[in-house]
Amino acid sequence: MIAGTELEIESFIRAQAYGLGFDLVGLATLGPVETAAAFDGWIERGYSGEMHYLPRGAEKRRDSRLPFPGTSSAIVVGLNYGGTAPGGPVARYARGDDYHDLMTARLDELHGLVEAELGRPVHGKAYVDTGPILERDLARRAGLGWFGKNGSIVNPEIGSFFLIGSLLLDVELIADAPFAADRCGTCTRCLDACPTDAFVAPRVLDATRCISYLTIELKGEIPEDLRAPMGEMIYGCDICQDVCPWNVRFAQPAREPGFAARTALEEKDSRPLARDLLALTDEEFRAAFRGSPMKRAKRRGLARNAAVVLGNVGDCDDIPALTKALDDPEPLVRQHAAWALEKISSRYLPSGPL
Ligand code: SF4
Ligand code: SF4
Repeated sequence: MIAGTELEIESFIRAQAYGLGFDLVGLATLGPVETAAAFDGWIERGYSGEMHYLPRGAEKRRDSRLPFPGTSSAIVVGLNYGGTAPGGPVARYARGDDYHDLMTARLDELHGLVEAELGRPVHGKAYVDTGPILERDLARRAGLGWFGKNGSIVNPEIGSFFLIGSLLLDVELIADAPFAADRCGTCTRCLDACPTDAFVAPRVLDATRCISYLTIELKGEIPEDLRAPMGEMIYGCDICQDVCPWNVRFAQPAREPGFAARTALEEKDSRPLARDLLALTDEEFRAAFRGSPMKRAKRRGLARNAAVVLGNVGDCDDIPALTKALDDPEPLVRQHAAWALEKISSRYLPSGPL
């Protein structure tokens, strides 16, 4: 109990975390990580593709006390990014400000509040996809939800459209009960809906086939057989979450103003957006996507994705933008633009290219 108050530190933390705008809060004790071996096996099978940062830190991932030695507890938070917003060519989490910055700043603030409340410096660190921590494992341990067959943590009250962050601290906290149940039951909607057949088994994703990976992490050419299944997706993919009954029923609008779509993306369908992205210079790209998670794909990645989308759903009106992209300084963009022109022309002129 905190001196002079009736409030336990755990209750104080929960209240402050909700006050900072987080939608879910749970506490976990750090220690051996149950899913670390499965994660290592997943990497060994090559399912992480070119995400070379993932194999690093395997030792630390096995025990959550190791990433930031001296810490013993985690405050695990979830921030809802708005599963009720209409679907579109950009995954919902990526339409506004970068959640890494937003959540890290807020977890740092929470850290300061804990220090002020305890009246001493508290050794600790905030993580938002930023270290060798299996945050979904920690989230389940902290009671935030269960591992859905689509790989997301699903919460019975808000579904899975939330981002996870954690604050590791050297404070002994009474942990919440882990989420023990598996409420997927016999449902397989997410596995069945994936357009690229990226699930090898329930909860096992071959990321090299996933549209999120292809449009964000993959730096080179998108394999030809996976271009058509990408459909209209330019950045990320929400399909296996959209179909989840827990989201259909319980997804909520985002409360966080930082997740509002930025002007460059507002009310844009896939084709106008793809044409805009194809035409961006490096400078325009930097200005449009400063502080956005979409900068991760870089201009050339977004232009590549845009070309694929126009190849999938474009028509004659898109030919000028694609033709201009044949002069793009990046060979990657030129190649995908040429592919797209061929696709469009084959739809209109079955006898050959334009
Ligand atoms: S994000 Fe899209 S492509 Fe990736 S597994 Fe889910 S449905 Fe499949
Ligand atoms: S769609 Fe069904 S199987 Fe997939 S995560 Fe949701 S409840 Fe689980």
